[in-house]
Amino acid sequence: TYVVTENCIACKYTDCVEVCPVDCFYEGENTLVIHPDECIDCGVCEPECPADAIRPDTEPGMEPWVEFNRKYAEQW
Ligand code: SF4
Repeated sequence: TYVVTENCIACKYTDCVEVCPVDCFYEGENTLVIHPDECIDCGVCEPECPADAIRPDTEPGMEPWVEFNRKYAEQW
C-alpha cells in the first residue's frame, strides 16, 4: 500500500485524488489519507504529488504512517 506522510500537512493539492483508479483517498484532519485496505498499490499517485508526500509502505519507518492513514480513512 501507499501512504500519505507529513509533507501533505495543510497541502491543498488534490492531484493524487484525481488519478487514483480506486478512489481510496479520504480526508483526514490536516492531510489526505489513503485507505490501506483499498489501495491496490498501483503507484500512479506517487509522482503526481507536488509535495512528495506519498510513499510506498515498503520504505523504512512507514509503519506509523500506515496506522495514521488507516485511522482517518476508517472514519468515513
Ligand atoms: Fe490509489 Fe494507486 Fe495511489 Fe493506491 S497507489 S492510493 S490505488 S493511485
